[in-house]
Amino acid sequence: MKFKLLIGGNLVRGARSLDVINPATGQVFEQCARADMQQLEDAVSTAHFAFPTWSRRTTDERASFLLKLADALEARQDEMATLITLEQGKPLSDAVWEVAGSVACLRYTATLDLPLRTLRTSENERIVEQRVPHGVVATITPWNVPLILLVMKLAPALLAGNTVVSKPAPTTPLSTLLLGEIAVDILPAGVFNTIVDDNDLGSALSAHPDIAMVSFTGSTATGRKVMATAAGTIKRVTLELGGNDPAILLEDIDIDEVIPKVFAAAMINNGQVCLAAKRIYVPASIYEPVCAALAKLAENAVVGNGLEKGVHFGPIQNAQQFEKLKTYLRNAHDYGVVIAGGNVIDRPGYFIQPTVVRDIEDDAAVVHEEQFGPIIPVLSYDALETVIERANNSEFGLGATVWSTNIDKAYDVACQLTAGTVWVNQHLAMPFDIPVGGAKQSGLGVQQGIKGLEEFTQLKIINMKLQA
Ligand code: NAD
Repeated sequence: MKFKLLIGGNLVRGARSLDVINPATGQVFEQCARADMQQLEDAVSTAHFAFPTWSRRTTDERASFLLKLADALEARQDEMATLITLEQGKPLSDAVWEVAGSVACLRYTATLDLPLRTLRTSENERIVEQRVPHGVVATITPWNVPLILLVMKLAPALLAGNTVVSKPAPTTPLSTLLLGEIAVDILPAGVFNTIVDDNDLGSALSAHPDIAMVSFTGSTATGRKVMATAAGTIKRVTLELGGNDPAILLEDIDIDEVIPKVFAAAMINNGQVCLAAKRIYVPASIYEPVCAALAKLAENAVVGNGLEKGVHFGPIQNAQQFEKLKTYLRNAHDYGVVIAGGNVIDRPGYFIQPTVVRDIEDDAAVVHEEQFGPIIPVLSYDALETVIERANNSEFGLGATVWSTNIDKAYDVACQLTAGTVWVNQHLAMPFDIPVGGAKQSGLGVQQGIKGLEEFTQLKIINMKLQA
């Protein structure tokens, strides 16, 4: 078997195997190793064993390992990108971007440090603050951006001195396993381990007494379970969860300029992005031309196998999500007016037409739930105050966008939205030094930057009286 688990510095066969489906064909294209409980135990115990030595290395030493991993990943960029397209479905150019972003994330993280801080010093006392690693960190990741979401956890976890056991989503395991294969000759044994499951080992990882922290990205429903399970041993958790991001357009926008950007914000990765714009609020005065412009973009989009040139959007990643989206398409037809797309595409694989639905109310499921697909609900509003209330009326609070030529007005709207990140006149600008996290049920804790790195550490105070 080509794709093996990385446990204790060895690439090992799985106790079981897992079929991996190419969503562009609906057919199995690869098999990989799948772990059982014993292999999970082995991965945790080897990570536990490797922790003292790894954590005692200097930050500079650990950073040099990250740089070597970045170089090795970069050297296999084409292979990794093709694999991501095959298992995830996204166009190859997007997969190349994901690999390049992962390399950049490793290199950026290698520049960070968490130096000891002196909080107080005098003749009689010295109080210092240290940031110490937690121990073994479990990373649990979803299927939409499988490599970079892992690397955004792995890099800071390792730099801070933790060891890691990583579990990808069962429908996109191969990019994680290939990263393990790339790391096997670079990282010391036990520092990074990969296990694959079929949605049956996540809770054992979150419950394991030797796992000190769970860094989770996935749905809010699963995030709740992780938090509940982790409570048994008061584990540290960071949760990057679902979103239902509003995009609020103000009356003064240049429609030709802004609508393609809003369309891109909604359709990124075929709508399968936590921070995609999932509800578009448009002033009644420009509702007609905005709906028409969005519909035209949807009609003109090229959907197909991500390996083919010129394809804008690939398939839906997996059969379960495809079935879920069919119910949202029905909901769009039942409660709104579909002005573009609206159907599945009659071909093998899991394809849906880019869809725009208008004249729909906030309480339709496709509007107030996280549909996570290529369906764009366009909603009309009369007054800014009410649209802010409508935008905030959600259990989610991940991101939001505001679009206007009047930056002061846009800023004022941004200040009133409940979200971890609000972008103005742009979307998904996420420099690695800027923290990202969710408000309300979209998350707990942050990733990226120094604040993100600090999540992988315990704050420790040493308070000294200088004379006994
Ligand atoms: P999911 O919650 O179904 O699965 C995520 C991961 O959790 C998978 O690896 C899965 O195997 C694992 N898992 C399943 N049951 C578990 C359990 N009981 N305990 C521990 N782990 C368990 O999510 P998904 O469908 O793979 O991904 C889509 C979701 O992820 C969307 O809601 C999306 O918004 C969210 N997401 C959030 C962010 C963010 O940064 N906020 C980024 C990407 C995706």
